Amino acid sequence: METPKDPLSINDRIREGLSRVAMAMRIDEWNKAKATGLNPTQLAILGLLEGRGPDGLGVKDVAAHLGVSQPTATDSINALERKGLLEKRTDAADRRAVRVAVTEEGRRTLRAAEGRESLAEKAVAALDETAQADLLLTLVKLIRHLQEAGAIPVQRMCVTCRHFAPFAHADAARPHHCHFVDAAFGQPDLRIDCREHEEADPAFRAATRDAFSTG
Ligand code: SF4
Repeated sequence: METPKDPLSINDRIREGLSRVAMAMRIDEWNKAKATGLNPTQLAILGLLEGRGPDGLGVKDVAAHLGVSQPTATDSINALERKGLLEKRTDAADRRAVRVAVTEEGRRTLRAAEGRESLAEKAVAALDETAQADLLLTLVKLIRHLQEAGAIPVQRMCVTCRHFAPFAHADAARPHHCHFVDAAFGQPDLRIDCREHEEADPAFRAATRDAFSTG
């Protein structure tokens, strides 16, 4: 039996903790989706497409980003299209491929869902600013590790962006630089899903990872 003197490994306990947080987030997703007449996968697709521009994403990319099969993504996309929340377009580069983009009605639905109170957001808001910044940094590192391992697609994070210059400034409060907006920023401002993100090539990403880890 596990006792305080003989605990599970820290890795096991962190995974247990993350799974409890994930459980609360799944409840949030169900509640938000239910309130807008969608299911969580459909709502997640709208969230993914929002901010991707008029070209949207291919069905394969949608499935990869959500971690679902292509048939599951296709079913949800078809349901969203019937509701008028997204539209399909022919891919200009490959006329056999289909791209999907959110409609104005889809954006309204998303805003209505996001306006609802979330258990996870309330829990994060209860942390002090330092704990929030530390948590964000830890999440960035975890996500980066997962994407470098090929477990998830490359996310639109600063640490994978060609505009990111980590620890470019001596100012401890705002050590990083974004070349897209040409401005310094701090750890609490690191982005997880930035619309202006442009994926850096693997060599640049490796150099950024090293500079970020040792900075
Ligand atoms: S463009 Fe966005 S993702 Fe890239 S460095 Fe700037 S803020 Fe970060």
